[in-house]
Amino acid sequence: MKFDVIIGLEVHVQVMTKSKMFCSCPNRYGSDPNTLVCPICMGYPGVLPVPNNEAIRKTLLAGLMCECNIALYSKFDRKSYFYPDMPKNYQISQYDLPFCEDGKVVISGKGLSKEFVETKPIGITRIHLEEDVAKSTHFRQCSGIDFNRAGVPLMEIVSEPDISTPDEAYIYLTALKQIMQYADISDCDMEKGQMRCDVNVSLKSPESPTLNAKTEVKNLNSLKAVHRSLLYETERQSEVLEGNGQLIQQTRGWNDDIGETYILRTKEDAADYRYFPEPDLMPVEISSDYLEKLKKEVPETPAQRCARFIREFAIPEYDASVLTSNKSCADYFEKCISFGSDAKKTSNWTMVELLRELSQANKTFDQCPVNPENFAELIKLIDNKTINGKIAKAVFSDMFSSGKTALEIIDEKGLKQVTDTDEILQFVKKAVESNPTPVQQLKEGKSTALNFLVGQVMKFSKGKANPQLASDMIKKELS
Ligand SMILES: [Zn+2]
Repeated sequence: MKFDVIIGLEVHVQVMTKSKMFCSCPNRYGSDPNTLVCPICMGYPGVLPVPNNEAIRKTLLAGLMCECNIALYSKFDRKSYFYPDMPKNYQISQYDLPFCEDGKVVISGKGLSKEFVETKPIGITRIHLEEDVAKSTHFRQCSGIDFNRAGVPLMEIVSEPDISTPDEAYIYLTALKQIMQYADISDCDMEKGQMRCDVNVSLKSPESPTLNAKTEVKNLNSLKAVHRSLLYETERQSEVLEGNGQLIQQTRGWNDDIGETYILRTKEDAADYRYFPEPDLMPVEISSDYLEKLKKEVPETPAQRCARFIREFAIPEYDASVLTSNKSCADYFEKCISFGSDAKKTSNWTMVELLRELSQANKTFDQCPVNPENFAELIKLIDNKTINGKIAKAVFSDMFSSGKTALEIIDEKGLKQVTDTDEILQFVKKAVESNPTPVQQLKEGKSTALNFLVGQVMKFSKGKANPQLASDMIKKELS
């Protein structure tokens, strides 16, 4: 690519609250259409909105997590537009005095553009709070509107145009999602529309200070769609420029099936929305006492937790970053450690066995049938040699499907590791007698023959012999 790519993101995140932004209807996903509605969120004339303090608190918290300045004086504004998803014909949003401004999210990991080795700060222009609009669904003959979503508190997080590749956009969104999950602000489940993204992308030649006209691609609802649409759009724009064509500022949609953007409209200016202060709502004043109190509630960020895991549990950076990429996973791991299981072994078992079982069963950590206490117990049973690693895997599968504890399964199935030397000696003798060739090879110093003989002992003991003891005893038997 002979052009520099300039990308800015506008991310909408639904705030997790009991009720909607300006009325007491439940803020809940998945109910029958138009069952969670009232005159306020249906936009009847004469109704009065009442702001949801919890939504404001979580927006300020998001601002603090993103290192923003928090406005002690803020207000809501009316944004006028006509569309069936907004029956009032205006949306209550924030215009010139948003709750949070001038922050940053520091991203890290593979895929940063090459002048940034480990981390890159992405500026946050602003975070404001508004109400979500209704959801339109288009059928063959007609369209349907579901107002359950109308009035759900919605944060808009606007980034500076600091992102220079589709990979960075992906990393930034992942980081943002983790922050929201860590602070219990939103689950950011993109399939449920809890996080939606618009991207702004423009190109400029490295020699020139001026940007070419930008394109906005709207309503991307998966991280993959964001990445693919940016790849497509940078390619499309560079082809136009290389063919000496002219780009015009426009808004485009994304067709995920064919992997292309398409033109929706030429961009309207902010003035078209005729913003003005919402006359039915008082400006929001935040006391510095309240802000100080809120600052104490700011949880660890994913990056801070990752650093602490490395420091406190002496696990490798890779492990720490996998474990902390998901808050529930990090919580689960930390609980296990509090029950006394070894950190590195717990990390291995979490990343490999537990994540695999969860993904196969399509379950989250919150739905995990094995609780941290029982998981920690399993790992301790391996550590104190009650069972060996191989049997532990089978036991774990069983725990996962039956919900039983490791000890219950070990007792039921008689899986305790055999560490009684007399008993193992029987198996060793049997292995030596029935395998003269490997025995001869081992005597001649061929070490692979030892592995074979240990395997035989494991087979005769139905996997229950302690392999280290078996190996020692074979060597002793033959010396
Ligand atoms: Zn309502």
